[in-house]
Amino acid sequence: MEDSFRAVGIDLGTTYSAVAHIDETGRPTTIVNSEGDLVTPSAVLFDGQHVIVGKEAIKAVATDAENVADCSKRDLGQKIYHKRLEGREYPPEAIQGFVLRKLKQDAARLIGDFKKVVITVPAYFDEVKRKATQDGGYMAGLEVLDIINEPTAAAIAYGYQQGILNDKHEVARRQRILVYDLGGGTFDITVMEIEGKDFTALATDGDVLLGGRDWDQRILDFVVEKFQAEHAIDPREDPCAAGRLWRECEDAKRTLSAREKAAVTCDYQGKALRVELTREKFQELTRDLMDRTEFTTRQTLQASGLSWDDIDLVLTVGGSTRMPMVEKMLTNISGKKPNRSLSADEAVAHGAALRAQMLLQQAAGESPALKIKNVNSHSLGVVATDAKTSRSRNAILIPRNTPLPASAKRIFKSHREGQKTVLVNIIEGESSSPEDCMPIGQCTVRDLPENMAMHTPIEVRFRYLENGRLTITVNVEDQEMLHEITRENSLSPEQLDSWRDYILAVEKGQTEAADG
Ligand code: AMP
Repeated sequence: MEDSFRAVGIDLGTTYSAVAHIDETGRPTTIVNSEGDLVTPSAVLFDGQHVIVGKEAIKAVATDAENVADCSKRDLGQKIYHKRLEGREYPPEAIQGFVLRKLKQDAARLIGDFKKVVITVPAYFDEVKRKATQDGGYMAGLEVLDIINEPTAAAIAYGYQQGILNDKHEVARRQRILVYDLGGGTFDITVMEIEGKDFTALATDGDVLLGGRDWDQRILDFVVEKFQAEHAIDPREDPCAAGRLWRECEDAKRTLSAREKAAVTCDYQGKALRVELTREKFQELTRDLMDRTEFTTRQTLQASGLSWDDIDLVLTVGGSTRMPMVEKMLTNISGKKPNRSLSADEAVAHGAALRAQMLLQQAAGESPALKIKNVNSHSLGVVATDAKTSRSRNAILIPRNTPLPASAKRIFKSHREGQKTVLVNIIEGESSSPEDCMPIGQCTVRDLPENMAMHTPIEVRFRYLENGRLTITVNVEDQEMLHEITRENSLSPEQLDSWRDYILAVEKGQTEAADG
């Protein structure tokens, strides 16, 4: 039976996911999946009537690559996942829904049924991707209590480990930490201040298209080049051969974290080649990727208004921080050896579990065990017309790195007498040109007051919640107006329900409820 006092934390990663809860002793603990592993590959195999998530699905990239959806997190914010699966189009959040459903069912087997979860997202996720993540949870039949930023979750786990959250030995000393989080598909950097139970983000930045996968790809391209030179054929032409080779390359990358040398064997159309790779060569092949993270790290520190001397600790999380080049770069720029005491694979899920517990306590009327303050990772703006050039421009209302919650208002004036509607295009991004920003959606106000005079002020108030989600209110002549937000690439409530029914039906082996 579902227990409403039970909630878990989910680190929904691009390549691997993990689930944690607070155990009977009060400690955050990772829940092993039904295969007995602490992490589950975030991959989904569509196999006829069956949908298989996790280890089996990722293995299938070697034999059935066309039907495997992996890295769907990278597609969040797009209308459909970049490839058709068994001839069908899926929204990326529905694929995430399948992953979340497997994580939920596996965890429920061990701790009992539950619905409530906290899911982590990259700090650099925009509003559209944040909503899509919440929608994925809904489609999996979960109640998403909150979404929190991955580096914040890691900082909470660190705080817990230090005893900051334990009532008996509370550490009040203020610490400023820089969290460097490099996972399978995303990179996040956040400067945080921890003081007792207060966790305050000072600045955040990142790249949602940079992660371990890109390091794998560099090895793959290197091996393919050698293979082509030898045999004049390209294994990437065949998705299954490419899938097999990618698995070999990822393996070699992991080996290179522990040893100086690794080998990759490429086997295609009866031809084979063994390619040796040294750690040094690997570093050379991926230098520009590392440089990108270094540049963003420096920029974020600058945005926080601090210098390296002010940083007490550099904390690394995410599987890719096991690559020695990460530690080397961070030591080099900060003059401090990064702290790797947190489990790179589990820390984020642990932080999410602590956050989930805190929300349950709060709901039960207890005082919260910790306070979290975030900043927005992208500037919020509206599309405006430049008076001089008549060209569209991004009118920024809430600049990035503003402490959340934050709100801003903009007054629009009606253009003519009796105007009935007004439409506002909302975007996120730093560029002055709206085309280079992320469209969030359109806010439409219909039914403006009858015979409204020309130039009547229409006040639109934008508010970011603590979790980076946006709400809007519209007022005309002190009266709140009904409005509608049409979101970019987002599913309607009916579509969400339909996908939820489908995911649950697939689980039960009945797939008639499908509706795209
Ligand atoms: P995460 O999303 O934090 O689970 O990170 C997953 C990424 O970490 C994947 O790209 C893995 O290939 C990578 N990874 C895991 N272990 C290692 C390792 N020992 N060396 C290098 N990369 C690793």
